[in-house]
Amino acid sequence: MDFALSDELLALQSTVRRLAQDKIKPRAREIDLSGEYPQDIFDAFRDADLLGLCIPEEYGGSGAGIFGLTLAIEEVTKYSNVIGLMLLLTRLPTGPLMIAGNEEQKLRYLPAIANGTQRAAFGLSEPGAGSDVAGMQTRATPDPDVEGGWILNGTKCWISGVSQADWFTVFAKTGEPSSRLHDSITAFIVDADTPGVTRPRVDAKMGVKGIDTGEIHFENVHVGPQNVIGAVGGFRVAMLGLNAMRPIVAARGIGLAEGALMYATEYVKNRPAFGKTIAEFQGIQWEIAKCATEIEAARLLTYRSAWLADQGKYTKEYVPQLSMAKYYATEVAVKASGLAVQLLGAAGYMEEHPTEQWYRDARQLTIVEGTSQVQLGLIGKGVLGHDLWWD
Ligand SMILES: Cc1cc2nc3c(=O)[nH]c(=O)nc-3n(C[C@H](O)[C@H](O)[C@H](O)COP(=O)(O)OP(=O)(O)OC[C@H]3O[C@@H](n4cnc5c(N)ncnc54)[C@H](O)[C@@H]3O)c2cc1C
Repeated sequence: MDFALSDELLALQSTVRRLAQDKIKPRAREIDLSGEYPQDIFDAFRDADLLGLCIPEEYGGSGAGIFGLTLAIEEVTKYSNVIGLMLLLTRLPTGPLMIAGNEEQKLRYLPAIANGTQRAAFGLSEPGAGSDVAGMQTRATPDPDVEGGWILNGTKCWISGVSQADWFTVFAKTGEPSSRLHDSITAFIVDADTPGVTRPRVDAKMGVKGIDTGEIHFENVHVGPQNVIGAVGGFRVAMLGLNAMRPIVAARGIGLAEGALMYATEYVKNRPAFGKTIAEFQGIQWEIAKCATEIEAARLLTYRSAWLADQGKYTKEYVPQLSMAKYYATEVAVKASGLAVQLLGAAGYMEEHPTEQWYRDARQLTIVEGTSQVQLGLIGKGVLGHDLWWD
């Protein structure tokens, strides 16, 4: 067993850390206040070759894998959760394609993500079906005029990156609409400029401002056979893609928690009260110590899950380990950002400090890509079924 990062990963970590300190830290509050897409940061990622971290070299990426992307996201999310999301969106919609797409699809879509000429988004959730994905209503019916083609109708909601996306990975029922079987759902690539695709609304949201979240509507959208990802009825792909995403979402959790705790620690070292600094009170030191311990535990879970995912270990038997990382790291982010607000007192509640933003931003993480409750359900099932067992 080796806990040390490779030289390549250390170099990547240091490059992204510098970029985060120079370019993201000074912009984070402004992005939150304006809610405008930070194109300058996207351009900086493109110029530093960071948009293709998880994309294999043969498709124009740098092949740093899920571990590389995890490390990069941890660094940038110390200052901005929405910038962590920007990097995450290089993997979420491309995951199903990398896992189950054919060569032609990979060559058509992946290099453009890696070189920043295209962006993509992931359309799974619907107004009536979030955690309960099998309840989706979006339908794909066979196109009578094109062999192997489909016609999509339905609405996806809360889609991150909806406004900037050039194409979407979309899931639709190809089987019986009332069926809850996974093989009734298929994944498609839908180009955003296909006739019948509209983006009718952008959400007003609590945090993670700067990348729009919103709706995509499909009305008689014709999708050719070349845009079906994997097999018809291959919903399992979506689940595998999401399993492999757990470390990447977890990375946003640990990054945010580290940023919040570091900020609050520096503050209490300088805040006088009762004739000393508040850092000198044992009660404060214990809170910092507990939070630091939880961050390190979350970090170990996150790194292990990234290491597993890079070995292709994101199938059912690894679900408990992957889900634990997402569950624990995102809960730690909520806790650490709450502690940071408390340690700063009134100052922590005000916009002069980033703590109130971290607190709002952290709340997103325990909801997206499988809520904490959904992750607990998966972990519980894994233990009951002995996928995770200790003898
Ligand atoms: C900012 C933001 C960005 C998002 N981006 C995307 C995106 O890019 N693409 C996309 O497809 N979706 C996206 N989502 C949607 C997100 O994935 C869903 O919100 C999430 O899956 C939960 O679904 P829901 O909101 O419908 O909650 P519901 O499923 O209605 O759940 C509500 C509550 O009930 C609990 N619950 C539900 N089922 C169970 C159960 N079986 N046991 C115990 N508790 C349960 C949940 O944990 C939750 O606390 C985004 C959401 C947000 C907030």
